[in-house]
Amino acid sequence: MIKEIDKKIYGYALKNAIHYGGKSNSGAVLSALFNEGLEKSKVKEVMPKIQKVINEISKLNLDEQKKEFEKYSEIISEREVRVGLPELPNAEKGVIMRIAPSASGPLHVMHGINLSLSFDYVKKYGGKMIVRIEDTNPENIDKNSYKLIKEDTNFLTNNEAEIFIQSDRMDLYYSYSASLIEKGKAYVCTCSGDEFREFSKNQKDCPCRKKNVKENVLDWEKMLNKKGFKEGEAVLRFKSTMSHKNPAMRDFPLARINETPHPRQKKKYKVWPLMNLSVATDDMDMKMTHIIRGKDHRDNSERQKLIFETFKVNFPWTAFLGRTHFKEMELSTSKFRKEIEEGKYSGWGDPKLPTIQSLKKRGYKPQAFWKMAEHLGLSEVDKIISSKDFFEVLNNFNKENKS
Ligand SMILES: [Zn+2]
Repeated sequence: MIKEIDKKIYGYALKNAIHYGGKSNSGAVLSALFNEGLEKSKVKEVMPKIQKVINEISKLNLDEQKKEFEKYSEIISEREVRVGLPELPNAEKGVIMRIAPSASGPLHVMHGINLSLSFDYVKKYGGKMIVRIEDTNPENIDKNSYKLIKEDTNFLTNNEAEIFIQSDRMDLYYSYSASLIEKGKAYVCTCSGDEFREFSKNQKDCPCRKKNVKENVLDWEKMLNKKGFKEGEAVLRFKSTMSHKNPAMRDFPLARINETPHPRQKKKYKVWPLMNLSVATDDMDMKMTHIIRGKDHRDNSERQKLIFETFKVNFPWTAFLGRTHFKEMELSTSKFRKEIEEGKYSGWGDPKLPTIQSLKKRGYKPQAFWKMAEHLGLSEVDKIISSKDFFEVLNNFNKENKS
């Protein structure tokens, strides 16, 4: 049995080295062994062996590695080991990808992994990585998050990402709103939330739906005007269809009035785009080619597709990711913020917090996150994992990059 494991270590280490230009990765070898049934309790015993084998292999050149691998190729499983990320379609000319964290606090470890996943593809194909800070809900913003998310992004991408702040782009959202109204694809609805829900439930048009373009232009001005509609009195809706089989698609809202002072823009704006308008506008304007996003955004993605169609713009290729939950702690920026305020943690860089601020202080390198993202890959399956196992693999990726 021991002999068998030794052979497998050689086989997987060689396979991995051949794929990565001669350099093998202990985390990848370890995870392949886990897939073959290696028990977690054996990690301490096996890790030195893996390191030893990787050192030996690194002395061979690529051709020698390939020749050596032939001896082991039969005992290692093709199916169990995934090497590298799957290719993206239509990516030959480069990709433009993004992540869009909310301004509710800095990035935590899974933001870091998701950013790294898209960034892995940007590095692979060339192109552009965009980090877009979502702050068009004036009620859920931490003023410090702008600076912290910039720091986290620059750290994770070696300063190679472009950073945008949505609330600095309000004129663009207003201009797309005006276009949608002109095209007859948006209208100002003055029904209460409850009234509209009732119409939607019964697949009936609300009376506002009948208004012509000119009336909607005037009502939109009334939404924007300081002396016009007040908070809760009107929303801008996308005119899809009220009988859509998915209720989420029925004339969903695009913009609303919120007079809470904005931490960054103060009282400059009264009407705020909702995420489907701001996200679709930005993705069109920034010419996004590929999107990797949480699968909880599936309905939003469909709504945004409808907005794209109105402007006759092709919708980016999209992949959905399952959520990764840690057994021991909920990864929630808002929760962490509350706990910092209560004194449970000393700040965003507290060593007990899984934030990028904290992990950076603890010596993690961006390459560890890139490798981890590649290792976790594109999967729609929700995962519940122990943070101990997660960090064991991340630590191994991190050790390799110390040299
Ligand atoms: Zn209405």
